[in-house]
Amino acid sequence: CRASMETDVSIKKDQIPPAHGLSEKIVGVLGGGQLGRMLCQAASQMSIKVNILDPLVNCPASTICHHHMVGSFDNSTTVEEFAKRCDILTVEIEHVDADTLEKLEKQGVDCQPKASTIRIIQDKFLQKVHFSRHGIPLPKFMQIDDEESAKKAGLEFGYPLMVKSRRLAYDGRGNAVAKSEQELTSAINALGGFGHGLYVEQWAPFVKELAVIVARGRDNSILCYPVVETVHRENICHIVKAPANESWKILKLATDVASKAVASLEGAGVFAVELFLTKDGQILLNEVAPRPHNSGHHTIESCYTSQYEQHLRAVVGLPLGDPSMKTPASIMYNILGEDEGERGFMLAHEVIRRALCTPGASVHWYDKPDMRKQRKMGHITVVGPSMGIVETRVNSFLKEENTDST
Ligand code: ATP
Ligand code: MG
Ligand code: MG
Repeated sequence: CRASMETDVSIKKDQIPPAHGLSEKIVGVLGGGQLGRMLCQAASQMSIKVNILDPLVNCPASTICHHHMVGSFDNSTTVEEFAKRCDILTVEIEHVDADTLEKLEKQGVDCQPKASTIRIIQDKFLQKVHFSRHGIPLPKFMQIDDEESAKKAGLEFGYPLMVKSRRLAYDGRGNAVAKSEQELTSAINALGGFGHGLYVEQWAPFVKELAVIVARGRDNSILCYPVVETVHRENICHIVKAPANESWKILKLATDVASKAVASLEGAGVFAVELFLTKDGQILLNEVAPRPHNSGHHTIESCYTSQYEQHLRAVVGLPLGDPSMKTPASIMYNILGEDEGERGFMLAHEVIRRALCTPGASVHWYDKPDMRKQRKMGHITVVGPSMGIVETRVNSFLKEENTDST
């Protein structure tokens, strides 16, 4: 007893456990959408304070964050002002002002992941150049500046050809497919022309899309979550199956490509690596997100450490947690807006009501102020003792739909 009292007296100020949480650092998140909201939910468990910067007064994270600064994460003065109120800056969206993050870093502001990572990733063309330099397998790609260079790419890569916006893409909104040379102009116009920067990718003849969440701590330790299968509909993530049903060899290859890709980027946090699996067993990288991701929502219920908790642990410098699954199988289903306004809410609530009565199902609703077609409004994760049982459970609340359809 005396020994412990003596030890207590000798504790230095910087060894005193933080008063308000597992970390005394205030984490500032650029963006307050559903990912920011789920980061705040994880932070609450650890009593870590999270500030949010988002222009929408009633953004999904607004009601549960420590402090919400209403303003643009793409505005230099606002980001600088926000940084003064936080100890660490991180992101839930990559379309933020990278120049300002770089400037702040030079002034000693702690950005995780690093501004250099955000800069590379927010421009999909730069991202592709970066990963190809690091020997990561990718679909062939080429910058296009005019009709002539687009046609040249078409001749070289063949059709269908994927035309992509370099910046500000999400949920497939920066993608347009040209099935033939005749469709090139309409695909380019659909993306707003050459003004904002376009490039093309060779069509990836994938049999499946896979994704891996990779976590990196401040000490550069890397941990990978189990490989999942992502099923897209009209370029938007529809469902995620965890774990992916593939051979050990494919799972290892996917994990190796994902961790090599993340190792080429700087900073702590979780990163999502989207991959294509081709018929001949090749893995090609589609894109990387420097933040928690839709393909990792399932981790809240199905892994020992969710991607959100992991991201916070990583950026504040706590030890990384166990990413393995604590349930044999899970499926995450995205609730997308089926219609505008009230009718959309009613349709979503029908699915939710059935899901609330489904064994193993957890419903997440993001509290977005407006319902819009194809907008991610919430998600449902179902866990269970086998993928077959989980699929039956999901089909029971979707009724007419089938989880295998793409
Ligand atoms: P996210 O919401 O994941 O950020 P995004 O708008 O950045 O999406 P991508 O990930 O580039 O878009 O593409 C969306 C989907 O389009 C992919 O998941 C895949 O289904 C399809 N796709 C993208 N690139 C190719 C390609 N080169 N070949 C074939 N299909 C592709
Ligand atoms: Mg993307
Ligand atoms: Mg994507």
